[in-house]
Amino acid sequence: MSELKRVYNFNPGPGVLPLEVLQEAQAELLNFKGTGMSVMEISHRSKEFEAVIQTAEADLRELLGIPSNYKVMFLQGGATLQFAMIPMNLRAAGASADYVVTGSWSKAALKEAKKLGAVHIAATTESENFNCLPDKYDFDPKAAYVHYTMNETIHGVEFFNEPVVPDGVPLVCDTSSNFISRPIDVSKYALLYAGAQKNAGPSGVTVVIARDDMIARTPENLPVMLDYKTLAESGSLHNTPPSFAIYMVGLVFKWAKKMGGLAAMEKHNREKAAIVYNAIDDSAGFYRGHTVPEARSLMNIPFRLPSEELEETFAKEAKKNDLIGLKGHRSVGGMRASVYNAMTIEGAKELSKFMADFQKRNG
Ligand SMILES: *Cc1c(COP(=O)(O)O)cnc(C)c1O
Repeated sequence: MSELKRVYNFNPGPGVLPLEVLQEAQAELLNFKGTGMSVMEISHRSKEFEAVIQTAEADLRELLGIPSNYKVMFLQGGATLQFAMIPMNLRAAGASADYVVTGSWSKAALKEAKKLGAVHIAATTESENFNCLPDKYDFDPKAAYVHYTMNETIHGVEFFNEPVVPDGVPLVCDTSSNFISRPIDVSKYALLYAGAQKNAGPSGVTVVIARDDMIARTPENLPVMLDYKTLAESGSLHNTPPSFAIYMVGLVFKWAKKMGGLAAMEKHNREKAAIVYNAIDDSAGFYRGHTVPEARSLMNIPFRLPSEELEETFAKEAKKNDLIGLKGHRSVGGMRASVYNAMTIEGAKELSKFMADFQKRNG
């Protein structure tokens, strides 16, 4: 551990993980719980792995306050596979589903759903270059469900209140990049899903939280790996699950509980995001945030500099200062700071200091 050198990791995903979690995984890598094997080498049917997956689920239920009429699944295929599984399982033949389009990810979800059946766009902010939340909705009261993306990772737009949908229409949410970043009321949702690699673990596992009546909608004859009913009833153990990734998300859930749970996590995340947003707002226009203030994400902070040349230089110099992963997505351009749960206050302060110093030298 003497050569331990960690950078400040602002990558959008896979993203930064808590150092304690990595150290814990390292400490028990060669001999997991006295088995003489790593967790990657033991049977997914063993009592040791059973404890891993059951504890991960119990800790997540406690963190998010998941009611007992919801199932938790640990699946593969990323959040992207959920874009297809949701319509396959929840939208009956001939029915239509509503989509709220607020950025690249909700647009990708819409595109997949459209390949498989009828969709209706209930709102879109594309004409504003996805820099805000919708101010009005045109919901179909007969929609099979409404899908929205709580945090748009690329455009840095986050919902802090759920869209108010017509009575009885199930609300489905992609919460990949703000998963377990703050408390939410799970009972408002019919289904929530998150690819783990943004905020909750390594890539390879996607968490799906689905109400029992949604799982009951699964039609007959879906291929088994696309079938919520089979996957939920088997406790995510119909086939070999991504066992190492599940072990890692379990360690992250335990860490989040130790940090004080999601209310404490929100406080920590608000403090960090404010440090970076203040650096933007105090720059007299040198740095320009992409998102309107009311919709600013606590997780992903896209911003521009006065020119593309300066943006190139900024990324290069930041890297020399161990501030990594700040280049923005090509669709928005500029920079993006992802300040997920495991990013420290110290990391946010180092970035803010660097931004002020860079402006002094180039402004
Ligand atoms: C990254 C991301 C996805 C895609 O996740 P994969 O696990 O790579 O399929 C979907 N939605 C959001 C909000 C994301 O940030």
